[in-house]
Amino acid sequence: PTPGQVLPDQPDVKIINRQISGYVGFANLPKQWHRRSIKNGFSLNLLCVGKAGIGKTTMINSLFNESFDAAAKDGGIIPEQPLDIAMENDDEAANGADEGAPATVRIETTSRTIEENGVTLKLTVVDAPGFGDAINNTNAWDPIVKEINSRYDQFLDAENKINRNLSDDNRIHACLYFIEPTGHWLKPLDLEFCAVIHEKCNLIPVIAKSDILTDDEITLFKERISQQFAERGIQTFKPPVYKLDDKETVEVANKLYSSMPYAVVGSNDFVRDPANPDVTVRGREYPWGVIAVENESQSDFMLLRDLLIKQYLEELHERTNNVLYEKYRSEKLINLGIKQDNSVFREFDPNMRQEEEKKLHEAKLSKLEAEMKNVFQQKVSEKEKKLQKSETELFARHKEMKDKLTKQLKALEEKKRQLEMSIQSQAQSSPAQPKKKGFLRG
Ligand code: GDP
Repeated sequence: PTPGQVLPDQPDVKIINRQISGYVGFANLPKQWHRRSIKNGFSLNLLCVGKAGIGKTTMINSLFNESFDAAAKDGGIIPEQPLDIAMENDDEAANGADEGAPATVRIETTSRTIEENGVTLKLTVVDAPGFGDAINNTNAWDPIVKEINSRYDQFLDAENKINRNLSDDNRIHACLYFIEPTGHWLKPLDLEFCAVIHEKCNLIPVIAKSDILTDDEITLFKERISQQFAERGIQTFKPPVYKLDDKETVEVANKLYSSMPYAVVGSNDFVRDPANPDVTVRGREYPWGVIAVENESQSDFMLLRDLLIKQYLEELHERTNNVLYEKYRSEKLINLGIKQDNSVFREFDPNMRQEEEKKLHEAKLSKLEAEMKNVFQQKVSEKEKKLQKSETELFARHKEMKDKLTKQLKALEEKKRQLEMSIQSQAQSSPAQPKKKGFLRG
């Protein structure tokens, strides 16, 4: 309300919670939801970041019981990355290189639909090969942040269209960050990356190949990482707890949160289970024994799978949509000069909506125009600088030539003077012979 505006009296609203007698039918709503979910399927867009060879592909294969590498070779993976995103990435990777980001960080997307008991999950894995591999990793995260932003932009554009199709949600729902199993402290690159990324997507840190560390080393490493995260204000994904949750759910949520970063082990192989030699399990076989990936006493792999798929996939979506995307969206619109009017409740008005869309479009256009002007200005000033440079060069050459000619002139004058002097001195040393008069006369 504007200052001084008198608001109409609010009617007295009383909310009464009551148990109804007789069956109305809305207790069946969860079943409707269930049916709809099965029909539509689920999706997860997962960003995997870590050095080459740290075990990202193996972990994805282990988590989803798939063979992503083999599928790629078979042609089984559909590169479902939308074309416009792919093209933007190329452009932006090039731009990123201009801005000093290492050109080696690329974005690769693989996507496939997997099914379990009739429920489908469209899994998209976004990898950033080259991250952390360069000698100078300054701004190595730029291409990754651009990828996340361009996915948000794509969703924002889809939302603003008259015919909205929001079923294709390409936004990143979680980032698995693979930490090297050094057992020491996080490196500056780890911290810088996590500090940037935790505000853009749900961050889930994992200690890769944790089978090379002892239990004590893992405990100490986890403590150190948590301490470093706290010092930098880095927030990892926290499974939410609701009032209605029972004690067990709350305990699970707390355990999942406090166990981060998960010390995980992945494997592409199936080995004989030492506990039950008749069956094979996904695991790693060493001369001293077997590590079964899904054995909870040997790694946190099951915690990661629980968080990511079994328990909190929907919460990852919700936080992406309600918190992270919302933050991005409002910042973007504010930057475009669109003000939010929270003071008056407005009913949906198509004209107003059109007006807003027009404003958004105009703001975009003027931003583009400003950018183009900027580029033009830059080009003009570059040209001017070039011209100035060639003018200075020309001037310098002219001066050089003039100096040379002046020198030559001086030298010639000197020569002339010397010549004159020598003529004079010759004339003085040999007086003129008197003319022999009358010699021709006889
Ligand atoms: P990416 O380049 O990050 O995708 O790494 P890969 O998944 O291709 O794995 C690189 C190598 O590390 C392979 O030889 C894997 O067998 C091995 N590896 C993967 N996960 C683990 C693990 O948990 N423990 C150990 N010791 N080796 C692993």
